[in-house]
Amino acid sequence: MNAKRSDRHPQTVQQKNACPMCATDGVTIEWSPLMFNYGSGKSMVELSVHVPVYRCDACDLEYLDEESEHIKHDAVCQHLGVLTPTEIRRIRDQFGMTWAEFSRLTGIGEASLNRWENGLSIQTHAYDRYLRLLRIPSNGSYLGKFLSSTATISATGLARGKFRAIEITSHMQKQQQDFQLRKMA
Ligand SMILES: [Zn+2]
Repeated sequence: MNAKRSDRHPQTVQQKNACPMCATDGVTIEWSPLMFNYGSGKSMVELSVHVPVYRCDACDLEYLDEESEHIKHDAVCQHLGVLTPTEIRRIRDQFGMTWAEFSRLTGIGEASLNRWENGLSIQTHAYDRYLRLLRIPSNGSYLGKFLSSTATISATGLARGKFRAIEITSHMQKQQQDFQLRKMA
């Protein structure tokens, strides 16, 4: 497994809560290989991961938890050549923004960001490349400046039908504060 994954999932055997079947405390975790199929028809591939397998010594129950689903999801992302949920979250963290703020900056829907970061859906390749560009801080600043200037034009342009007056609306001020940008000259 790669470094990023062991980062998230230390390869240690831990005690887990009581067994869901017999309620004794003897549940241990062992990281074990798991193969699964992804895709269909000719594009179907077999992917291989390591997942934590929970095992109860008292009743021999073996089970997986949702962590396994996250690990499988990461493997699918790697197979498709797109950013994993953790990598997407790191890009947003780099801006120190909430989903709502990052959504205002990028134009990407908040719900989409939420789904990608939680592994509920996978971004298209176009969005993936857009997100990769945002890893470069100057691209984020550029976008913020563009939005600030657009807000100025559209706010006054829509309200008056011309661009001669500059009105600082609370919305624009908020936007400028969000992106911590200098006011455009
Ligand atoms: Zn048990």
